[in-house]
Amino acid sequence: MQRHVASEPPFEAVADHSRSAETDLELLRDVLRLLPAGVTVQDAQGQFLIVNDAAAAQLGMADGAVPARSPRLEQRREAGCEMLRAGRPAVAEECQDDGRARQVLLTSHRPVRIGDRDLLISSSADISEQKAFEDQLFRSAYYDELTELPSRRVIEHRANALLRREGEGGGGGEKFALAFLDIDNFKHINDYYGHAVGDALLVELARRLCRELRDCDMLSRISGDEFLLLLSPIQSREEVAEFLKSLLDRLSAPFFIDGSEIFASTSIGVSLCPDHGQSYDVLRHCADLAMYRVKNDGKGAAEFFDAGMEHEAQARMKVEQSLRLAILEKRFCCAFQAKVDIRTREIKGIEALVRLRDHEGVIQAPGTFINLAVELGLIDELTHLVLAEIVKSIDRINATFGPDTTISINVAAKQAGNPEFMQSFARALEATGFPTRFMIEVTEDAFVAKTHFQDEILPIFRKLGVGISIDDFGIGYSSLSALADITADEIKIDRSFITDIHKRPRSQGILRAIESLSEALGMTVIAEGLESHEELAYLQAATRIRYAQGYYFSGPIFLEELKPATPLASDARAGVASRPPQETRYANARGNRYRR
Ligand code: C2E
Ligand code: MG
Ligand code: MG
Repeated sequence: MQRHVASEPPFEAVADHSRSAETDLELLRDVLRLLPAGVTVQDAQGQFLIVNDAAAAQLGMADGAVPARSPRLEQRREAGCEMLRAGRPAVAEECQDDGRARQVLLTSHRPVRIGDRDLLISSSADISEQKAFEDQLFRSAYYDELTELPSRRVIEHRANALLRREGEGGGGGEKFALAFLDIDNFKHINDYYGHAVGDALLVELARRLCRELRDCDMLSRISGDEFLLLLSPIQSREEVAEFLKSLLDRLSAPFFIDGSEIFASTSIGVSLCPDHGQSYDVLRHCADLAMYRVKNDGKGAAEFFDAGMEHEAQARMKVEQSLRLAILEKRFCCAFQAKVDIRTREIKGIEALVRLRDHEGVIQAPGTFINLAVELGLIDELTHLVLAEIVKSIDRINATFGPDTTISINVAAKQAGNPEFMQSFARALEATGFPTRFMIEVTEDAFVAKTHFQDEILPIFRKLGVGISIDDFGIGYSSLSALADITADEIKIDRSFITDIHKRPRSQGILRAIESLSEALGMTVIAEGLESHEELAYLQAATRIRYAQGYYFSGPIFLEELKPATPLASDARAGVASRPPQETRYANARGNRYRR
């Protein structure tokens, strides 16, 4: 085995000594020149003795050119002299930003003494890409990409710092307020205008929110349409209330995005430190509860936390638990309400309205649990339970209302836009063996939302012969002109237009417009919530509307409590606590007619 000793020439294969040295030097120069790392050698004055290709590119020198007097080179020269004076190896990160691109070099410098000269050998790796990636990671951890606002971590960190100061000051620290903001019905806006407009709205809203903040306040986007605002310091609750009032005013002005004028309100819940809590989690929870209260009280306002909200939340949790249990135990039943021909009193169809039987046997109306079931993702199961109940009772339904009446089932807008559920529901309807008896009732929001409902889901139901009904028409987000694009069989005009219709010229005008448009589009019109003789008389005299549904004819009824051909006892009415006095008589079950 051969070994190199210090005195031996390094490249033995070359026989001629002087030629070999020259060639070796040439070879070394080439290797050095082509190394991917930037290599420079500087003398004690910082002058560059060697600059390889990579270093020339990194330092912005033309290939092989004498170094120009650029700031970058000057910097390197000075740094070189300093390193040599210090006489220690060092590693440094050098960042160069020419406004167009950012270059980051990781350079290790090593002072050496060769012969009688002090030299600095530097080797640089370009880590720009890695750095950009790290920066991106950092930004996405601490900043929201869309609005460029700080993330929840940052605001939490800031609140915790304030709380520590408060603790150290023996409670005499700065007061601050934490406000939780949630845009109302943002999902509708997103569904209707599309996600690009939704995003633009969030950016614009964030801008408006920031407009009057002090440097010491902080706004953070914590998720989708939720923001947290930290106001610190504050003097009083009144000061915060006043500020939020002006904020709400600013937010209620329309947004002009992509040619659309969009109105968006925001609900705000506020907690105060130290009054409502001394930890971030507690304060955040309190602000959350206050926001929830605003949502339930009609939205678009700001409210401060109070202790009653905590009790409300516990009660809500109880309802949530009991709803889950009720689904598990299948404690649901259906009441049926007829759709009646207002001229002949014949029953055209019935609508299944779900009811929950609680453990004490008390019947709960859907108003208390449907939205929660949607929120908790339990509604699909519930709808399948309703269908199962109908199938189970079909003989009784036929005997009571007639074998040809349509049977309507309500489907929540969220379900309607979910192809997976709707396909499984269509299969279940088909499996009954009588799919053509069914109609599904969905609110107009389902039609106007940019989901697959109208284009992909409806055709499946049409193919099965299942009818489509637009429920509660007039109170949703569609306009009359949107009706032209909707393919449905039936349109149910919301009760709010029908109540006292004989006394309300504006509602009469709207009714006429809906009526003629529906007629032109071949849709059957049903008036919902007909309660009085006067309302009926108006519909009969002034409109061509044929059908109505309402307490005037009958409230929802339970089949098992109904004795056909006998007058309805008041307890046979399936309306719940707020039901109207019993005034309807179910006159002729087999003839399927209502008579007053
Ligand atoms: P909806 O589909 O518009 O049903 C009509 C509601 O108005 C029913 O309330 C009915 O009892 C009530 N009503 C009928 N006639 C009158 C009247 O003359 N005056 C008044 N004041 N009210 C009348 P209910 O049964 O409490 O149902 C409320 C809503 O719950 C329904 O409105 C529907 O949107 C929803 N719902 C009911 N069952 C289901 C279901 O199985 N699935 C889904 N997703 N939603 C359901
Ligand atoms: Mg309905
Ligand atoms: Mg309705």
